[in-house]
Amino acid sequence: MQLAPFYPLLYRVLHPLFPTCLWAGDQNIPMVALTFDDGPHPEYTVQLLKILDHYQIPASFFWLGACVQRSPAIAQAIYQQGHWIGLHGYDHRSFPLLSPRELQQTLWQTQIAIATACDLPPKAIRDVRPPNGLFTPQTLKLLHQWDYRPVMWSVVPEDWTTPGIATVVTRILQQVTNGSVIVLHDGRCGGTDVAAIAAQLIPRLLEQGFRFVTIDQLWQQRSLDTYFNFSQGDEISQPLITSTGDSRATPGD
Ligand SMILES: [Zn+2]
Repeated sequence: MQLAPFYPLLYRVLHPLFPTCLWAGDQNIPMVALTFDDGPHPEYTVQLLKILDHYQIPASFFWLGACVQRSPAIAQAIYQQGHWIGLHGYDHRSFPLLSPRELQQTLWQTQIAIATACDLPPKAIRDVRPPNGLFTPQTLKLLHQWDYRPVMWSVVPEDWTTPGIATVVTRILQQVTNGSVIVLHDGRCGGTDVAAIAAQLIPRLLEQGFRFVTIDQLWQQRSLDTYFNFSQGDEISQPLITSTGDSRATPGD
């Protein structure tokens, strides 16, 4: 069964329920974030990188630690091209199935793999997208406690079922709006088409006047929006606290 039609509905339900996650950016600014899960992949990611480079588009990647360890040179190339890097667990196990200790391990192992490949401090990599989109309030509590930033999505074209390049592009164009966080996959499931999808999608979005931003830029924009809302005296029932500073705790803390 195709689940693609249900994702917009799911987004509308979940977004207000879990406001501390990043679901989308500012709806008043014509910007979108392209995000890619499940890589890096030695073939699909390399093809994708050429398209992003051609259009000079920044993207965000949520990596699996096991894939980073298999392809560290590709990981390094992506980072050096200026893309934003986040965590997707070490081996794609769903977070609600893990004990707190296992969750901590899967994230930390992935941070170490990325830090080693990209020559980064492990604690600089703190954006987390849960595999299979599955999380619980307890998962989020732990992520916040360990100073990670949970990142979700607003446009899910279900590319991992490989419904065809044109179908994926059409689904995205039908749903895209200011601030959209678009999820695609450059790994084993869906990665075969990812470069061709990006090659068709990016020029269409540019034509429509969208600017491409990273997930980190969306967090920064959200901090600004929150600040200005407070300054203007607007009531915010649940303040969105998104530190972008360096006061990060170790997951072990
Ligand atoms: Zn995934």
